[in-house]
Amino acid sequence: MEDKPLMLDGLDGYQFEELVAKIMKKKGFLNINVTSKSQDHGRDIIMESPKGEIILVECKHQQFVGRPIIQKLQGAMNYDETQNPDKEVNGIIVTSGSFSQEAIEYNKKIGQEIDLIDGKKLKKLCEELKVVILNGKVQIITNKSFENISEKQSKELALKCYSKIYGSNENKASVKSELKYTPSCYIRYNVSFDTHTTVGCVDSYNDSGQIIVDGVTGKELDENLQRFYFSGRFDTDEIKEKEGHKTIPYEFTENDIEEHVLNKIIEEHTHDVHYIGNNNVSYSKTCMPKQRDVDTKEFMSVYLPLWTNHIKVLKMNYKQQFYVNGEHNQLFLTDELKKCKICEKQKDEDEKMSICLECGRIVCPSHIKIDYLDKKTPICTIHAKPVKIFLQNKYFAYKENSKKYQEWLKTRNFFQKLYEDKITFGLSIAGICGIILFVISLLK
Ligand SMILES: [Zn+2]
Ligand SMILES: [Zn+2]
Repeated sequence: MEDKPLMLDGLDGYQFEELVAKIMKKKGFLNINVTSKSQDHGRDIIMESPKGEIILVECKHQQFVGRPIIQKLQGAMNYDETQNPDKEVNGIIVTSGSFSQEAIEYNKKIGQEIDLIDGKKLKKLCEELKVVILNGKVQIITNKSFENISEKQSKELALKCYSKIYGSNENKASVKSELKYTPSCYIRYNVSFDTHTTVGCVDSYNDSGQIIVDGVTGKELDENLQRFYFSGRFDTDEIKEKEGHKTIPYEFTENDIEEHVLNKIIEEHTHDVHYIGNNNVSYSKTCMPKQRDVDTKEFMSVYLPLWTNHIKVLKMNYKQQFYVNGEHNQLFLTDELKKCKICEKQKDEDEKMSICLECGRIVCPSHIKIDYLDKKTPICTIHAKPVKIFLQNKYFAYKENSKKYQEWLKTRNFFQKLYEDKITFGLSIAGICGIILFVISLLK
């Protein structure tokens, strides 16, 4: 394991530079610019140290690096120093192979700050930075998550939701909480480009944006979920080992994600402009940013904490599933405490749910009855015990109450019973009024 080199065989020189740039970014260097595309001699990457020094990096994906490479970088450093007299310029040479003895000695002699990183050092650096490279690509390893809550807090949340249900104080609920981390990448970027035609610049575009990509599908997260995390404070927590959680691994490398996001950003910022040509004719042009017009300001691999609560009341089970962004923000994917167990309807904003004391079903207002005698015990329509008078049913949660009522009803006379049955009573009154009106109309 120790002596195994990094798996870089499949890379070409340019891919190796990109890889080095990524590693430098992880090491904390800023404004990293891979310049080889624009043919800057003697330096493949220009970047800045956190202290503000200019750092030139030369990348050599080859077995041996000799003294001429050091001399070349030295020349580039001297040149950049004259261009930026107020800044310190340092250099780094990175190779996947090794430096010749002559090169090492020469570097010592010149006394300039050139840091030599060979294949072994590079591997060590990757280990320190927790960068895993597979087939030359940076795999995503992170222990960061958006601000999470504890298992205790998750359970408390379930119990708090449960306590809002009518009748819940009569039945204890037990809760089991599970935590799963789902992988994502957060990217903040700038897009800036001009579009030229024969009449000159017709569009100067400058915009910024942010995006969160699913680390399993590689696709942009659901809009709601993105908005949920953007609206938070953007605090992160460190995932500790042995939290009893599940971590879903990233299926994509940083390269894959960046490539995908780049296409998405280009698509999103492509737009049409109208302009008048020299011949006074109006034209329309599609302005499309190029890859280099998109500047990634921040790339953060971060897990989204997803909690699942299993709530048991009597024989009934309920599931809650929600993303967390800090202690006070949850985005529910499922909340069965707000779903009627009889009609399956999701609770409306102003509806109050109730729980049947016999079976533990949480039900909507249409599927709950209140014991007619004690005026408080809720019972679902499946378990409510009806007593029919004439047309109306009275419902009871307890058999004893139903019996008591029936016995009381026996002691009433016909008219008292009629009064007790609100439907029949109402119909009778309406009928009597009808007859009176009919008689009056006859008398006229
Ligand atoms: Zn219902
Ligand atoms: Zn019931």
